[in-house]
Amino acid sequence: MKRATLARGERTPLDERPDVLICGASFAGLALARELTGSGADVLIVDRYEIGERATSACAAPTPWLHAMGVQDSIRQEIPCMAFHTPHGSARFRLPWSWSSFEYRALCQQLFAQTDARFAIAKVEGRSGRTVVTDRGELTAPYIVDALGWRRVLATHYQPPEAPLSRGLEVHPHGASTDLDVWIDRSLVRYGYAWSVPADGEQRIGVGSYEPTHHVKEPTQDIAQRLDRDAVRYQGNWFPHKLRAATEDGVYFVGDSAGHCIPLSGEGIRPAFYFGIAAAREIRRALAGEQSPSSALATYHRFSARHRPAFTAALALQHAIPRLPPKTLTRLLSLTGRQRPCHALFGWYLTVADPKFANA
Ligand SMILES: Cc1cc2nc3c(=O)[nH]c(=O)nc-3n(C[C@H](O)[C@H](O)[C@H](O)COP(=O)(O)OP(=O)(O)OC[C@H]3O[C@@H](n4cnc5c(N)ncnc54)[C@H](O)[C@@H]3O)c2cc1C
Repeated sequence: MKRATLARGERTPLDERPDVLICGASFAGLALARELTGSGADVLIVDRYEIGERATSACAAPTPWLHAMGVQDSIRQEIPCMAFHTPHGSARFRLPWSWSSFEYRALCQQLFAQTDARFAIAKVEGRSGRTVVTDRGELTAPYIVDALGWRRVLATHYQPPEAPLSRGLEVHPHGASTDLDVWIDRSLVRYGYAWSVPADGEQRIGVGSYEPTHHVKEPTQDIAQRLDRDAVRYQGNWFPHKLRAATEDGVYFVGDSAGHCIPLSGEGIRPAFYFGIAAAREIRRALAGEQSPSSALATYHRFSARHRPAFTAALALQHAIPRLPPKTLTRLLSLTGRQRPCHALFGWYLTVADPKFANA
């Protein structure tokens, strides 16, 4: 693909003083900007790439969230069922809600179109107090948001492989299927899982390892081969599995930068929307003079911390499930796949970051 991003030498200096500076134009940053629309604030979003240029995920999210965010036109395929596979059998779950796979670029552009923010390409390199240092110059703002993903560039950096990060890699061959398939199979990956997400003529087939020192390229090629699909169009990244402080030194952290990616499932798009909206609401109230900037930070910090029990429970399951005897796991999956437990479990799971919140 041709890169739209300007080479370093072609970039012009950027010297801006917006009211709100959002670093990162992906799920978290764009959801936050969308929620600030109409606030009257001068909002500047910066990213090292053009909006939607580089997808970082399999791009599957709960369908109700995509509707709530007004990005349903980016949907490629609605997926009502999940199928879990172990070496000893399979269980099909008909969910109380559906997943949808979507087109990353379209979704990002549709989110941005709903904002009244400005956008500039710049690589964020660090921060000194209220000033963010980029490769195009320094940007100063009273409200600064780090929506830059797992690196958490504006505070103490995450360093894999020691940091609490999982690693994921996927390929995007042509192919068709109906379910969101998940394999929990030690012969593929010791602590993690493999997936196949159908996307209308494309399959996003990948492997995630909760253990960051374990490599995922061979397992990804292995699962593609088992499915008789070509291992083509690779994309991979790290993703966090532990919550971090949602504010630090006056900066808002949202999405992967705050560890807002649900352990076990590695689902990070929906929480990025959810916490992005939450942070924006506090900033908005502060901009309107309804609370002080420090009280906005504290309220958002507490909001994020309130979700710790759900994230801790998911992390405990992330630790336990790969260690269960495979036959026990197979039995558990077939019991959980029955309608009542399936609806109870996935109903609860959706409420961890409820789509109703988007329009609350
Ligand atoms: C292989 C894989 C598949 C996944 N599949 C799914 C899935 O199907 N569903 C799901 O819910 N989650 C999935 N996830 C997790 C999900 O991708 C993340 O949780 C989600 O992308 C987090 O969103 P974010 O906006 O916080 O960060 P990101 O999406 O990582 O966005 C960070 C943004 O910051 C920009 N940026 C980074 N550094 C700089 C810098 N120095 N200067 C300027 N800009 C910078 C990037 O260009 C990017 O636009 C997957 C993860 C992986 C690795």
